[in-house]
Amino acid sequence: MGEGRLPPMTADQELKLILEPEAFTGDIFSIVNHPVIQEVYRFRHRIARAIREFLDEEGFIEFDPIMLGPVTDPGTRGALEFRVPYYGREYRLMRSGILYKQLLAAAMDEGKIYFFYPNLRHEPIDASKTGRHLVEFVQVDLEVRDADHFQVMEIAERMLKHVIDEMRRYEDRLRTIWEFFGSEREGLPDARLPLKRMTHKEAVKLLMKHAEDGEVIKELEKKFDVKRPQDRLSFTAEIPWEWEWYLSKINDQPFFVHDYPRGARGFYDREYPDKPGILMDFDLLAPEGHGELSSGAAREYEVSKVFARMRETNENPELYRWYLKFLRDHGRPTAGFGIGMERLVKYICDLPSVHLARPAPKVPGVHSP
Ligand code: AMP
Ligand code: MG
Repeated sequence: MGEGRLPPMTADQELKLILEPEAFTGDIFSIVNHPVIQEVYRFRHRIARAIREFLDEEGFIEFDPIMLGPVTDPGTRGALEFRVPYYGREYRLMRSGILYKQLLAAAMDEGKIYFFYPNLRHEPIDASKTGRHLVEFVQVDLEVRDADHFQVMEIAERMLKHVIDEMRRYEDRLRTIWEFFGSEREGLPDARLPLKRMTHKEAVKLLMKHAEDGEVIKELEKKFDVKRPQDRLSFTAEIPWEWEWYLSKINDQPFFVHDYPRGARGFYDREYPDKPGILMDFDLLAPEGHGELSSGAAREYEVSKVFARMRETNENPELYRWYLKFLRDHGRPTAGFGIGMERLVKYICDLPSVHLARPAPKVPGVHSP
């Protein structure tokens, strides 16, 4: 812990400095210099170490992320891409490494690869209020050859358990963070395997039942500033933010939601060959309202199907030439997931926001250092 170098502020002032997005345009040194924030950064380091240990043990090979390319994956939920000039063309900064990781998993002898992948996403401004979105963040992004989504769900839950078990060794230090941010936690909640699994349909059904409770609706309207959240639940769309938060809050263990409807995800999530409209994919959610930690899927690897899906979502297939060629000549089943480091740090440290999980955070819409 840093000692003796704190700015002379009251606890209230410090908390304000840390929590209000405008504060990030302010004194970045004071934030990084704060002993509790420094402990959060140490947890990020410890979590990254635990993940690398786990993946190394499982036979994964780590790659350095590829940052520039002619195309990045299509963002969901409205995140735009950053474009940069590139020798007379326009290249993109990666919104995720999904396309490259499929190729590497298919090509490498080990068939198991991962990155610590910095992602850049021009998130919509209203994402600044979720406490879960940054413009710049890191995913631990992995892919496995000849696997399906259920097989990588098992890897995801074992990895999460490993991280939690390792972090429990530092529970005293976690406690100082929890106390500072007013967490109600008594200890680090265990992950009891196998984690609960529910389909998207089951999750929406459950939420529709809870939506009959007027108190729940009032709570969501107030907390998320939405009108009639009950009308936003649908079997054919993504679970809206406020309901995802609610689903996460009513669980006391991490859990999976799988089999999302086709409209909800990108062309790379494979459709069940025998269940049209349903994708072989999943989210891993944290309890206590922390929400989504990870998304994963079995990949669509048949070039004709990918091409059709691109047409459906108005992607420009020209940009994807190298990827389509790879699928045509070498495409084979892979599955994988990406787990957000800032989300994981937020969950382990029980932070009010991912804004606290890295220095100089880029909060959507805020012009900060
Ligand atoms: P996605 O493929 O969009 O689901 O992203 C994979 C994972 O990255 C998510 O499950 C989150 O943990 C994390 N993630 C996605 N978008 C953001 C963001 N804007 N800020 C922080 N973490 C994010
Ligand atoms: Mg996701």
